[in-house]
Amino acid sequence: MAELEFPLVFDQCPNCGSERRIVEILLEKEREQGRINKDAKATVMIQNTAIVDPTRAGMALTIPVLLTFYDICADCGTLYCVLAQLQKAMPQMAPGKQPPGFLFPPGNPRGN
Ligand SMILES: [Zn+2]
Repeated sequence: MAELEFPLVFDQCPNCGSERRIVEILLEKEREQGRINKDAKATVMIQNTAIVDPTRAGMALTIPVLLTFYDICADCGTLYCVLAQLQKAMPQMAPGKQPPGFLFPPGNPRGN
C-alpha cells in the first residue's frame, strides 16, 4: 500500500508547468497593498471528501476527511489541485437524511 505524506502540495500546473495561479496572484496584490493579512488564503474551490463507509459511519467517532484546494493556472486556465490535507472530522448527518450527504462546512470540518 502506497503511503501518502500530507499535506500534498502541487505548485505547478499539470498541463503547462506554470507556477502562476490566478487566485495566488490576486492575493499577492492584496497583500502588497496591505488589504489582507500576509497569511490569508483564498481558493477557487474546496472539496471535502469523507473517507467513510456510509453503512458504518454511525459507529465512527471521527472519520478521515480529505480537503483539496483548487486554483486556476494563470497561463492556460487549467483548474488543478494545489493542496491536499487530511483531517479528522466528526460525522454530521443532516437530520432525517442518510448519505450521500455527510455535511462539512468548507474549511471547517468540525463546524465550530
Ligand atoms: Zn497551465
